[in-house]
Amino acid sequence: MPAIVNVNGRIVAPQDAAISVFDRGFLYGDSVYEVVRTYREVPFELEAHLRRLGASARRIELELPFDASRLSREVERTLAASRGGDSEDAEAAPWNAGERQARIVVTRGSGEMGLDPGLAVDPALVVIALPLRGPPLRSYREGVSAWPVGRAGSVLRGGDPAAKTGEHLFHVLAVREARSHGAHEALLLDGTGKVAEGASSNVFAVRGDRLVTPPLAAGILAGVTRGVVLDLCRDLGVPVREEELPLAALEEASEAFLTSTVREILPVIRIGARVVGDGRPGKVTERLHAAFRRRADLQARGRVYDSGAKER
Ligand code: PMP
Repeated sequence: MPAIVNVNGRIVAPQDAAISVFDRGFLYGDSVYEVVRTYREVPFELEAHLRRLGASARRIELELPFDASRLSREVERTLAASRGGDSEDAEAAPWNAGERQARIVVTRGSGEMGLDPGLAVDPALVVIALPLRGPPLRSYREGVSAWPVGRAGSVLRGGDPAAKTGEHLFHVLAVREARSHGAHEALLLDGTGKVAEGASSNVFAVRGDRLVTPPLAAGILAGVTRGVVLDLCRDLGVPVREEELPLAALEEASEAFLTSTVREILPVIRIGARVVGDGRPGKVTERLHAAFRRRADLQARGRVYDSGAKER
């Protein structure tokens, strides 16, 4: 099945999935969302994602229409309805083949037109399940490039970076800029030239003998994958620090990688025009990715429960 959609609890084919043009998610980006993925058809870290959905909703004072257990049932139901009939993707990384992703969107609803959230009625829940579109195997083997965006004079970033909301124009334009330079991801810089995060990922660098990632105070999303990586570092004894990451420090890193639900741990071998390290995915990145893959597999087999990756 290419995609299946759940609109307020009703599972329908994509062409029958409809939402009002008065919906505030459509008009104003007045919504929160999550993206989860499966391993062995089991959603990974679903509890952590639903906790973050709740946290995002609280940050924008949006009342979720359903509790976490109902949301989790709706996600499972939609994923189950979307199984089967995938076309083969010869470039997919083997651990992504046959897996699915689900986007969970809750909007503040529709109602009389106007910015005032008090006008909103009937929050809407939409779950879209579709085959996982992760980076191709080649990107894990060879690494990808990232493009810094946000130097003085470029588009200003709006919203609350700690809330995962439907307000995305900044990210869309940042990715457009990155793609126009042939880069996989946009690296968002703050006004002082420090790297905050990717347009849809968190950023890590190997500096000397330690791993470094910007702290939540840098104005970033508390990535679920970022949380798992920090946990893995503790398990493996890899020294890690949450500290500011000036662009120059990232460019001089011996290794760099991005983390996100759909990417897992993806090596970065070029930042703008600069080559990172020796231009190949590094040892620390590969070791962490292998550990991540083991963790994901164990969780899917039910041997390790949702690690409850804390929102750090
Ligand atoms: N930062 C931003 C801005 C994102 O959109 C994402 C993707 N959800 C991430 C980081 C990575 O988060 P996660 O690991 O939870 O997918």
